[in-house]
Amino acid sequence: DGLSELLLSRVREVPDYPKPGIAFKDITPLLADPEAFGALVEALATLARELGATKIVGLEARGFILGAPVALAAGAGFIPVRKAGKLPGATLAQSYDLEYGSAEIEIHAEDLTADDRVLVVDDVLATGGTAEAAISLVRRTGAGLVGLAVLMELGFLPGGERVRKALGDAPYQALLTV
Ligand code: IMP
Repeated sequence: DGLSELLLSRVREVPDYPKPGIAFKDITPLLADPEAFGALVEALATLARELGATKIVGLEARGFILGAPVALAAGAGFIPVRKAGKLPGATLAQSYDLEYGSAEIEIHAEDLTADDRVLVVDDVLATGGTAEAAISLVRRTGAGLVGLAVLMELGFLPGGERVRKALGDAPYQALLTV
């Protein structure tokens, strides 16, 4: 449809970044275009409203850029999930495997309550490891998880299947699959 075409036309593929053989999907041209950026935020905010989200959890770093305006447009609060060591308060931490080694992300659990309905937002779903870890973190806070939304899924990787399994009945939406 028109939205998908607009969004896709504003994503730049950078060959061999950050490593040889990787084709990095760069969303900075989309962010630079207020029509495309606005349409993306509105699409995600519509989903957030439909799901009755009270909090948007954005994943560092591009999930912050998308998640914050989505939260405001949907009348929800914004909660950052950050790489380990960046949040000053009491955190819950979740580690997950990378291709080589592992990573850890954290959340301020006290900013969520059992009454919250959380939509997790990020830019790109690749292996699904980051989103799966974020889903676990949100569940561990005791808040309700109502879904995961990303701009783009890399369809040649099994990330979609992985996050669907982690989400259970909560919906998963990728606006684009490439
Ligand atoms: P995953 O954990 O393998 O699914 O990787 C997803 C995380 O890495 C997300 O937070 C993305 O922002 C980032 N990421 C992976 N591949 C790309 C890409 O091609 N473009 C932009 N971000 C990416």
